[in-house]
Amino acid sequence: MELPFQISEILERLERSGYDAFVVGGCVRDVLMGNQPHDYDITTSALPNETERVFSDCSVIETGIKHGTVTVLYKGQSIEITTFRVDGEYADGRHPSSVTFSRNIKDDLSRRDFTMNGIAYNPKIGLIDPFGGENDIKSRTIRCIGEPELRFSEDALRILRALRFSSVLGFTIEERTAETIASHRSDLHKVSAERIFSELKRLLCGMDIKRVMLEYPKVFAEILPPLEEQVGYDQGSRYHDSTLYEHTVRAVEVVPAEPALRLAMLFHDMGKPRCRTVGEDGECHYYGHAGISAELADEFLRMLKCDNALRERVCAVIKYHDTPADPSRRIVKRRLSQYGADLFRDIMYAQIADGTAQSELGKTRAENARKCLETAEDIIAAQPCLTLKELAVSGKDLRGIVPPSPLMGKILSELLGEVIEETLPNEKNVLLERVKELLNAKNIQI
Ligand code: ATP
Ligand code: MG
Repeated sequence: MELPFQISEILERLERSGYDAFVVGGCVRDVLMGNQPHDYDITTSALPNETERVFSDCSVIETGIKHGTVTVLYKGQSIEITTFRVDGEYADGRHPSSVTFSRNIKDDLSRRDFTMNGIAYNPKIGLIDPFGGENDIKSRTIRCIGEPELRFSEDALRILRALRFSSVLGFTIEERTAETIASHRSDLHKVSAERIFSELKRLLCGMDIKRVMLEYPKVFAEILPPLEEQVGYDQGSRYHDSTLYEHTVRAVEVVPAEPALRLAMLFHDMGKPRCRTVGEDGECHYYGHAGISAELADEFLRMLKCDNALRERVCAVIKYHDTPADPSRRIVKRRLSQYGADLFRDIMYAQIADGTAQSELGKTRAENARKCLETAEDIIAAQPCLTLKELAVSGKDLRGIVPPSPLMGKILSELLGEVIEETLPNEKNVLLERVKELLNAKNIQI
């Protein structure tokens, strides 16, 4: 196993000082799968103060000293080194009330969540794999270390971690582990919103999200109760050939794997059951569902402690996901000006996903949104003027001509409108002439 030189040197230095030291957890799993780890965690028999002494020539930050973790700044890399530890009792279903340090690597591995995450490695010793993690990685299996009952009741977040790994890595959850996830799902309410949301975002972006959502609808409904009603919900519409939950799942899967878009599709039809009406022909309609879904998303994302920028982006995409897209250049340009290029693109991605997840009839919607995206990219490439900031005249230029009053704003937005519509070129002299015309026109009062 190739290790970055800083990691090898840290392991050697701890060993020369008489301690055991290994890389452990996610990084070993990633290497065994042939993937590049995004970081390396080190575990050692040295107590935190002993580690500090070994690295007394480096900057050491006591990041989680109570849990045995210090961060060492070593040759330009910051690396977490944690003392082997055994977790005490989990009284609250989320973290241990105490931790005890150990001098034995196996103790440390047995507190970890899944066999694939319970492997340690050191270049001299090789792999320490007491729970068959390497085999489980080979057979692409997620299996609890020890008794699933106990492990999920210690920390219910492991339920979402299992689903996240299953979705991201494409692994299957072993039967007893899976059964216990189902029976312990209500313990998720004991876990903090921040931890749940962080796992949920990663879970949604996994390549196998469709399979995981179809296998564990009740776990998703535990976090977002309105999903429960979507399961088995007949949409009663020619535009749909699946239940509301299946439609949601398909839309989540089809949209690009970015948290804002995946979250938007997860919530996009949540408001439907509240707006259902039945037409004379027996066809169901859901007028206004986009707005209600956006309100529900706003409420749940606040509960999940989502940051404001992401919440606002998700809600905007949901709000406009059902607004018919017109691929004509004029309208696309107006929408680009109204939403900004990034939000416009996201709304189109959402419409493509939504249409693709519908019956054949819905496919034209997806096609339409695709055309809008193409038109938008053409328009954007030409760097047109779409906002007041890009207009060739500013309020400053008009100061001598237009008195400072609400009229200034009116005139600027009239100019912008005409430039967007391409009835005026975005050129300073032409725009100044047009201002004089507007001032003379009867419909504008000073
Ligand atoms: P990634 O970094 O890709 O999210 P990871 O497996 O490294 O995956 P981390 O959250 O970085 O996950 O945790 C590092 C290691 O700590 C895990 O591999 C696992 O051994 C252990 N671990 C993390 N969270 C838990 C938990 N809730 N319960 C038990 N062990 C855990
Ligand atoms: Mg990690």
